[in-house]
Order: sequence, then C-alpha cells, then structure tokens
Amino acid sequence: MRLTCDAMLGRLARWLRLMGYDAPHVKRPPAQAAPGEVVLTRRRAWQGRPGVLFVAHDKLEDQLRQVAAELELKPEPADFFSRCLDCNLPVEPLERGDVAGRVPDYVLDTAESFTQCPSCKKVFWPGSHGKRARQRLARLLALRPQGI
Ligand SMILES: [Zn+2]
Repeated sequence: MRLTCDAMLGRLARWLRLMGYDAPHVKRPPAQAAPGEVVLTRRRAWQGRPGVLFVAHDKLEDQLRQVAAELELKPEPADFFSRCLDCNLPVEPLERGDVAGRVPDYVLDTAESFTQCPSCKKVFWPGSHGKRARQRLARLLALRPQGI
C-alpha cells in the first residue's frame, strides 16, 4: 500500500517511512488515488473522496494514531527502518568492507549489518535511528514493545 502524503504532512510521511511504508511526500497530491494508494491530506474539502483519508489532527502523534486506526495498519517491527527517511526508497544491504570511512569506527566495529539508500547513499545500521525513535513508535502505536 502506498500512503501518499500531501505538502502539510511531511513529518507524518517520515514516520510512516520509518515504519517501512511507501510514503511519498508530494506538493500536490493526485486528485484520484491509484489502485493500492491512499492519499493522506489535510485538505478538508477532500474529505470523503474515494481513496482519500482526511487527516484531522495537527499533532504528529494523533495523526499517526488516526492513520493506523483508519487504515488498519499493522506495522511490523521487522519492516522498521527498511526505507530511507529522506528519499522513501527501500535501503539495500551493504558489505562491511564498503562502509569503512563512512561511519564512525566504533560503529564499523560493533554494528551487525549495514544498509544504504540507493539514492542519497546514506548508510544505516541497527540503532542508527536511535533507541528513542523505536521507543516513541512503540509508545505511539502500542506495538509489542519488546524486541524492537
Ligand atoms: Zn536516501
């Protein structure tokens, strides 16, 4: 499912990506959703259009809760951090040998695995998004807090 976010929902788009969802952030959302797409918008006038979810809240936490509830999202911790937060592209596995010099030495020595964004080439590793992001997500969505 693609969750296309309008111009006013940039933060929401990043948090959806963090959970692994395909969440493009566009200036002008399509007036009609494509198959498999839901357009998330703050435009009240679009409320009730097919394939459109009017996001009623200002606060990120409330927005995430509303979207998760109304679209019956079941975020899978295994999918978390599988997408570049900036580019919305799935990250790709990266060999340890290709990481040297691109991350701090202690990360190179201790991280289990690495991925990179095929577009912006940013390198990620388990924990690179921080424990706080995981904890916040777990709290927001009341996910299984253990093991993520
Ligand atoms: Zn990227």
